[in-house]
Amino acid sequence: SDEVNIISGTLSLKRKKVGNIMTPLDDVFMLPYDAVLDFDTLSEITREGYTRMPVYETNRANIVGLLNIKDLALLDPDDGMAVKTLCKYYSYELVFVTEETTLDVMLEDFKKGHSHMAFIQQYHSDGEHDPTYKTIGVVTLEDIIEEMIQAEIYDE
Ligand code: ADP
Repeated sequence: SDEVNIISGTLSLKRKKVGNIMTPLDDVFMLPYDAVLDFDTLSEITREGYTRMPVYETNRANIVGLLNIKDLALLDPDDGMAVKTLCKYYSYELVFVTEETTLDVMLEDFKKGHSHMAFIQQYHSDGEHDPTYKTIGVVTLEDIIEEMIQAEIYDE
């Protein structure tokens, strides 16, 4: 039944890790920090249709900001608003977690409402140099809810 599925899905949050359910970085639609929101860029954003768009500088693993589609609703393409300007204006908090984070912990974090998208990081250590973290994907509240109900949510 649906109820049994949801209960077992909810119980599974404790043993599943964000690294296993994330959207890999290569599949994430992002905006360059130095981009201008002209007609072509705004058209692409509309076509892609995502609510949240990470902003990167120089390389895609270097996330420096986040924009929400609703921030762009009243922009005039002719004004050539810079991504950088909007990032600074809204300056949404960026949440970074390791790939080992379990889904129950991630859900609690999303419920606190800092952000409904988190950036997943992988720990690298060669034993010699200082350990580093590399961003490898994103997870949103919807990804967690899908694991709870154990079904795909189809976008309209
Ligand atoms: P949206 O509201 O944009 O549809 P959701 O938070 O509902 O986004 O997530 C739906 C799926 O899309 C999830 O699997 C999530 O990881 C993925 N996702 C969210 N934002 C992006 C993005 N900018 N690029 C690629 N995938 C994304």
